[in-house]
Amino acid sequence: MTHPQSTSDAQNPLLTAWTGPFGLPPFGAVTAEHFRPAFDAALAAHRREIDAIAADPAAPSFDNTIAALERSGRDLDRVVSVFFVLAGANTSDAIEAVERDISPLLARHSNALYLNRALYARIADLYERRDALGLSSEQARVLDRYHTRFVRAGGALDKPAQDRLAAINERLASLGTQFGQNVLADEKSYALLLDESDLDGLPDFARAAARAAAAERGAPDKYAITLARSSCETFLQFSKRRDLREKIFQAWIKRGESGGATDNRTIIAEMIALRAERAKLLGFDTFADYRLDDQMAKTPQTARKLLDQVWSRARKKVLVERDALQKLIAQEGGNFALAPHDWRYYAEKRRKAEFDLDEAEIKPYFQLDKIIDAAFDTAGRLFGLTFTPVDVPLYHKDARAFEVKEAQGDHVGLFIGDYFARSSKHSGAWMTSLRDQEKLLGDIRPIILNICNFSKPAAGAPALLSFDDARTLFHEFGHALHGLLSNVTYPLLAGTAVPSDFVELPSQLYEHWLEVPEILQKYARHARTGEAMPKLLLDKLLATRTFNQGFATVEYTSCALVDLDLHGLADPAGLDVTEFEQRDLAALQMPAEIVMRHRLPHFQHLFSGGGYAAAYYSYMWSEVLDADAFEAFEETGDVFDAETAKRLREFIYGAGNLRDPAEAYKAFRGRLPAVDALLKKRGLADAA
Ligand SMILES: [Zn+2]
Repeated sequence: MTHPQSTSDAQNPLLTAWTGPFGLPPFGAVTAEHFRPAFDAALAAHRREIDAIAADPAAPSFDNTIAALERSGRDLDRVVSVFFVLAGANTSDAIEAVERDISPLLARHSNALYLNRALYARIADLYERRDALGLSSEQARVLDRYHTRFVRAGGALDKPAQDRLAAINERLASLGTQFGQNVLADEKSYALLLDESDLDGLPDFARAAARAAAAERGAPDKYAITLARSSCETFLQFSKRRDLREKIFQAWIKRGESGGATDNRTIIAEMIALRAERAKLLGFDTFADYRLDDQMAKTPQTARKLLDQVWSRARKKVLVERDALQKLIAQEGGNFALAPHDWRYYAEKRRKAEFDLDEAEIKPYFQLDKIIDAAFDTAGRLFGLTFTPVDVPLYHKDARAFEVKEAQGDHVGLFIGDYFARSSKHSGAWMTSLRDQEKLLGDIRPIILNICNFSKPAAGAPALLSFDDARTLFHEFGHALHGLLSNVTYPLLAGTAVPSDFVELPSQLYEHWLEVPEILQKYARHARTGEAMPKLLLDKLLATRTFNQGFATVEYTSCALVDLDLHGLADPAGLDVTEFEQRDLAALQMPAEIVMRHRLPHFQHLFSGGGYAAAYYSYMWSEVLDADAFEAFEETGDVFDAETAKRLREFIYGAGNLRDPAEAYKAFRGRLPAVDALLKKRGLADAA
């Protein structure tokens, strides 16, 4: 597809200053056609800036090189941020076409920056003289990060190696885009359309959500189960129809493995080979070695050691869980072996039997609006923040905005929550930004988004969450606070710009406050009666925290181990993805009744972009930190302890990448964490 040139750059709303409320982009004026010319103009402008910095006749200084780079590329930042918000949360065929066109161009642009030899020479010169430059500690950190980034991108390599790296990067960018679009295509094209008579076992909220999903797909007299996690998992949990459970489950785990045009397996094989080649060019044995060198864990061996400790305990626990579920089947007179599509259904039954707790009974107490309030209230009690709804033009009517302020009224930033699933949105939940905090070009305040995929209720009905959904909301909101509370000068260090095995600390830590009884008492209110959750139900809910944790841990940890093994291949030539996955899981002794939480053909963390490639272990690594960090509050006897919260804000939520992660954690806690708190949290401490 070619791009029309009818709009001149001067009229392009993406290239004019954003003068909307809070500096929002003019969403109403932007159409898909504006993006390609805006990208072209912004890329060219940044390219000119980079060339000027590299060719500066003056001797390299922090200001004319590092700070100049930090000041550059602002048009591009803006176009990129608004484009990728739309590409993730409200895409279309036209946006997808731009995305395919633009991803290799962005990779080429990044190559032009990081493989610029003259620029690297200036940075290397500054880095060598760093102790004599009289830099502040933040400036020293920025210089160190630039130097590391350039070296890791190949800035110090010879020309032929750089040329090959550049080609690899462009190809990887295209493949990553195609991967994500294929998964979305498989999700969009599938819906299990059911009649009333097929809904045996489904509670009211699930029926209402299925009804709404069918209406969105143009079948208002039917019920649709989709491949969005909230829809599909709820069905697996409650439906009495084993045949239909199997059907939806098969569709779910086969995303990206259709055998047709959207099959991702050859894409994965090529990406793994290219990543391994890139790592070798940069002097590492494998991609995993390369990737972890700049993480908190430092080596695949260190990450693996943690995963192994968890895995052996989780496997023991999951076999006990499995036997209990199989026993339930026998008690019901069932004459079949527990299958993956049965696990959630029988686990729910077992929970009901053992704890007298029913998800359908809990669910009316978790109203989306109230859980948002709970997340805000927690931020108020910890950090003194307030959140006020504001009516501003956004990109979709379901997105909502809140102005965030300090207790004394100072403006902190804008928070946008976009919570409902729709077919134009990629699956999963994530935090992103339209603008990051910094002080280099003035006191610039952040605009932060949370994108989720909760089932949208029928018109007039309240939106209800599962307890897991509520946890997801708190998780993403923890990321949002990491962006909102950022207090740095240089954009490079702002907010979530930290290693991925540290970035899940603020998010996972925040989940702990959802489980604080006083928060639940206040915000878990029945959608119809408005009554608080009865104490007995609340106690039962909290008592089940470690229920089914063997399953959850195995489902997650198998993904992290397969990821490390796959990216730990020194020579992945001729990789057969299906065979690799099967062989690796067999070697791990993966229980046959459980499927990886993300199978390779739709594992977007690894292949859609690749932010978590060889780094899916990050969640577990960060969990060691968050379990230990929450204990810091518990030890004071007050989970909102002001002194602890102050240190948490200074060294974690507000600190971006000002310090090495281990140093930041020590500054908060006084020491590094041990794994014990994590094992206790997951109920694995006694499963050694
Ligand atoms: Zn996260």
